[in-house]
Amino acid sequence: MRDTDQALQGMYRCPVCGHRDSAVIDARGTTHRISCSYCDTQLDVTVRNPGTVLLSAQLAENPMQS
Ligand SMILES: [Zn+2]
Repeated sequence: MRDTDQALQGMYRCPVCGHRDSAVIDARGTTHRISCSYCDTQLDVTVRNPGTVLLSAQLAENPMQS
């Protein structure tokens, strides 16, 4: 079993501040909630295609209150 079977490191671009960073997500799912490492905005990222490291990021529809 390879580590990459479940964890995927991808690149996202924050739609709010334009910051680019990497995020490690669960490759088994399709949409993942992350927070921008720069502006801390909650984002929903989607894996565009299996095997690619490019993630599509958009504002989270229902941000969780911390
Ligand atoms: Zn940001």
